[in-house]
Amino acid sequence: MSFGIVPIFGDDGVNQKKFYITTPIYYPNRPPHIGSAYTTVVADILTRYYESLGYDVFFLTGTDEHGMKLYKEAKSAGISPKEYVNRMVPFFKRAWSALNIRYHRFIRTTDPDHEETVKRIVMKVYDRGDIYRGTYRGLYCVECERYYTAKDLVDGKLCPIHLKPVEYLEMEVYYFRLSKYRDQLMDLYINNKRFVLPEERKQYLIRKIEDEGLKDVAITRPKWYLSWGIECPWDQDHVLYVWVDALLNYVSGLGYVSNKENFEKFWPPDIQLIGKDILWFHAVIWPALLMSAGFELPQTIFAHGFLTVDGKKISKSLGTDIDPIDLVRKYGADTVRYYLARAIPFGEDGDFSEKDLVRYHNDELANEIGNLVYRVLTLAERYFDNKVPESTGLSPIDEETLSEVQKRLNEYHDYMRNLQIHHAVMRVVMIAQTINAYLNRTEPWSCWKKGDKETTARIIRNALDWIYILAATMYPFTPETATKISQQLGLNSIPKLSEVRLTGNLSPGHHLGKKQILFRKIS
Ligand SMILES: [Zn+2]
Repeated sequence: MSFGIVPIFGDDGVNQKKFYITTPIYYPNRPPHIGSAYTTVVADILTRYYESLGYDVFFLTGTDEHGMKLYKEAKSAGISPKEYVNRMVPFFKRAWSALNIRYHRFIRTTDPDHEETVKRIVMKVYDRGDIYRGTYRGLYCVECERYYTAKDLVDGKLCPIHLKPVEYLEMEVYYFRLSKYRDQLMDLYINNKRFVLPEERKQYLIRKIEDEGLKDVAITRPKWYLSWGIECPWDQDHVLYVWVDALLNYVSGLGYVSNKENFEKFWPPDIQLIGKDILWFHAVIWPALLMSAGFELPQTIFAHGFLTVDGKKISKSLGTDIDPIDLVRKYGADTVRYYLARAIPFGEDGDFSEKDLVRYHNDELANEIGNLVYRVLTLAERYFDNKVPESTGLSPIDEETLSEVQKRLNEYHDYMRNLQIHHAVMRVVMIAQTINAYLNRTEPWSCWKKGDKETTARIIRNALDWIYILAATMYPFTPETATKISQQLGLNSIPKLSEVRLTGNLSPGHHLGKKQILFRKIS
């Protein structure tokens, strides 16, 4: 799948060199599983990539803490909803920390500044005349927190996502005039090529709106029905619909009311990662709310596919709700991150398989990358006193390999910028393969035996220069390994992607660090 060439995000004008990325905020009704870990790992990969290129990055994630579903979970646990979410949030923070995910803010929709932001923004929409009172009658899935029309249901009665019966509900609510934004939204989808990615998801939206039109949406719930939410600022008998509350986290998370400077620096989002099940909220309701409230729109809403585990849906009852912390304990954060980026075509549905994880670990991380670094450092230690050797000139094989490395590096950047993460990480492996092939062709150990110190020096120096590139390109995916390689190269910090060169990364005479095995093979 290709999304076409997208320009470097944020490189157009005033907001040059900033990058604002978000994940959905997760429902803390149970600890995170491998599916939410996947989205959050990808956001961290992109964060580290843009940071390494010299961008100012803001990465927002968090938890969605209001609504009926959580209210019911708390009630059955016999505690207040707030106590309930307070207990659950640490599970998320621990999992993200285990996976080496470094967000800039973990937003909770019960944060006071979030609640204040939501009230201010819905008041703007209200003042604009885009909100009116009405009665809602319809079929509602409590798990999804949304209404369905009869034809969306499975067997006429089950929620298509949860396969549980929907409820008939009738209540007084306030509506948002979503229908008013139909033409503006259609223009946005048609004229802005990168607003919704991948392309087929956008086509789905266009078809759905053309077929079914765009109906106004209920954005409040009466308190007699649900009190666990943010109070509606113009009518205290209502709370705001959990989805409106949740979507506005992307505004409040930057500090809309608490850190104006940060908000102005980073707004609008450059990439918003979501699962395809929440596309309608993010690509239809969200931009319409922003248009109504007078905000600049996000650059890209990227909807990735669903993750299955060994071919099965992720669910507690099937035992497929793998705990990311368990995986990290078993394999290490880098292997898990690498596997998620490598094995799942970003944007499409993917399948998690522990067997594949072990295979990628052994074949690519241990055999290609780990062995390469160990091999080159061993030669440098043996022949050149663990220093970068002095050398001049390039042989035809050197030139050939150099252009191969350059090609892979260029592809790496193109794929990263086009959100083809799985192709980008493959370029890292290809760079390692290129260097391994170079060593096999040039055989520096044979040159040394023949007494050709000059050729040996040139080969080792080139290999070290390219391992430096390898460390920089690995950093977004496997930050711990990038740190270890950098230390073994005798560097104080991980090379920045904005600073790598094809040759001359390491000066002659530079002292290398102590070599160590990067990845032990898993049997
Ligand atoms: Zn549902």
